[in-house]
Amino acid sequence: MAGYIIETAKGKWEVVVGLEIHCQIISKSKIFSGASTEFGDDPNTNVSFVDAGFPGMLPVLNEECVHQAVKTGLGLNAKINKYSEFSRKNYFYADMPTDYQITQFRYPIVGEGEIDIDLSDGATKKIGIERMHIEQDAGKSIHDLSPTKSYIDLNRAGVGLMEIVTKPDFRSPEEAGAFLRKLRSILRYLGTCDGNMDEGSMRCDVNVSVRPYGSDELRTRCEMKNVNSVKFVMQAIENEAKRHVEVYENGGTIAQETRQFDPTTGHTKVMRKKEFAHDYRYFPEPDLPPLVLDDDYINSVKAEMIELPDAKKHRFVETLGLTPYDAMVLCENKETADFFEKAASGHDAKKVANWMMGDFFAMLNKKRLDIAQSPVSAENLGALVELISKDVISGKIAKDVFEIMSETGKNPEQIVEEKGLKQVTDTKAIEAIIETVIASNADNVAAYKSGKTNLAGWFVGQVIKMSQGKANPAIVNKLVRERLDK
Ligand code: MN
Repeated sequence: MAGYIIETAKGKWEVVVGLEIHCQIISKSKIFSGASTEFGDDPNTNVSFVDAGFPGMLPVLNEECVHQAVKTGLGLNAKINKYSEFSRKNYFYADMPTDYQITQFRYPIVGEGEIDIDLSDGATKKIGIERMHIEQDAGKSIHDLSPTKSYIDLNRAGVGLMEIVTKPDFRSPEEAGAFLRKLRSILRYLGTCDGNMDEGSMRCDVNVSVRPYGSDELRTRCEMKNVNSVKFVMQAIENEAKRHVEVYENGGTIAQETRQFDPTTGHTKVMRKKEFAHDYRYFPEPDLPPLVLDDDYINSVKAEMIELPDAKKHRFVETLGLTPYDAMVLCENKETADFFEKAASGHDAKKVANWMMGDFFAMLNKKRLDIAQSPVSAENLGALVELISKDVISGKIAKDVFEIMSETGKNPEQIVEEKGLKQVTDTKAIEAIIETVIASNADNVAAYKSGKTNLAGWFVGQVIKMSQGKANPAIVNKLVRERLDK
């Protein structure tokens, strides 16, 4: 895509963005305790003594969380580190009773990787992953139930998190948005995180700086914490970058700080001066041994890997002839991709894709249904496309049939049979209709013969209309012209 450039009267600027994304691990119990991770339960009902920070309680690493993290690392095409270790990150916060977070610092479980993002012009770009580590989530402070008190819910305390840190590879809000969509799609395919940003199971910190266009320096960045939708991430980047440009152009400097994005104004305001790693007094967690994985284990997780969206997209383009854009949309979630493959099986895949991208998605949208609830089954959509391919019905009639399918769930053959919608390809029958139309429109026949040849299209339309849309358009077109030119 064309570069995203901020241009002012004084100069051109480029934005440099990196993301840190906290993803809640899908697992029945928390990362260091046996308490449930269920979202939405009554406050403080899923809290073990470990989560509550009782003295003497010891954490035990949940193997399922490790398994999910390794799977995710493989999904990010990243290096799985056979040696990793846990550290204590010390800080005081009311929703964290231990006053430290168990996280990974020097040795994360996942190293460098990369994923492709899909841009609006059909291009792709590689985004580097710096690392991914696992850690525990904090509880939740609730400030809006009382004007004078804050409440603490520890249900979330100790839920497993994967923190994915990207390289500063984004050069526009669009690229960051595309990355979050792709990451969410991969996590959902893998079943390692549900990716619901509005429920906080995927939370994004956004690091933004700007530099003169064409330069490769890295200037001071500011971090926006916990931005909770793709749209807000894009907005935060745009507005924060503009703020930096304004400060620089007025001779100021940017301080490294943590800022808060306000969705109602779209702007950011300062939360606190940025803390540095040494402020946290990281040290190796004495209650947990290092995490050591062997090749057998990593290979066994590799063997479980399913086809991910990029590989699927590639296959749809290469072997089924889909456009990259259609393939990308169809592969964004696994249910849709599976539905498509089932519908396309044995039929014209490109036509099936067109139907899904058009009438099918429009129908789901209108009825506000998930694909799993679709009244039109994959088999029936494939059968409908087959009827068109075999000239049993025209594309126009197919739209009516589809409408009935989406209301009744019936299969298209049955609808065509019941409603007598079979396309007329019998030339005798079509010729008879042509004669009727010609007999009752002598004036237009005369006009045609005197040179208004574009009236042929009008005759074709009349014939198809009189056949109630059932006459095969190609045949009508040929016969009408032959008859008029006779
Ligand atoms: Mn973290």
